[in-house]
Amino acid sequence: MSQLADDCIFCKIIRGELPSTKVFENEKVLAFNDINPAAPVHVLFVPKRHIASMDTVRSDEWDDIAEIHKAAQQVARQLGIAERGYRLVNNCNKEGGQVVYHLHYHLLGGEQLGPLNAK
Ligand code: AMP
Ligand code: ZN
Repeated sequence: MSQLADDCIFCKIIRGELPSTKVFENEKVLAFNDINPAAPVHVLFVPKRHIASMDTVRSDEWDDIAEIHKAAQQVARQLGIAERGYRLVNNCNKEGGQVVYHLHYHLLGGEQLGPLNAK
């Protein structure tokens, strides 16, 4: 599989073809503000190589997931929400609520968060 997918919006953000407000970047991970924030802090963490969903992660790609968790810990501290608390979530496939099929984690915080499975 290619590193980046032509028609994927998060790959376009990674390539700089679509704008984003970056909050973190290293060799493996990019983090940027969600365009439609669900909380005062709502940052998306994506692997720089295209992985469609949590369900398609291959054995040689778990490093990317660890890097995302490390990046989220760092960004949460930098944004001042680490001690207060935050949520790091991945939506996988249709019933999980996944809309963009480039694996991503949502970092949510900055207020008291609601129930996990709100209807
Ligand atoms: P999910 O439902 O887990 O696939 O989440 C997709 C997220 O991507 C949603 O929270 C959207 O608001 C967000 N999103 C979609 N397009 C963009 C974009 N161009 N820049 C930033 N966030 C985006
Ligand atoms: Zn992609």
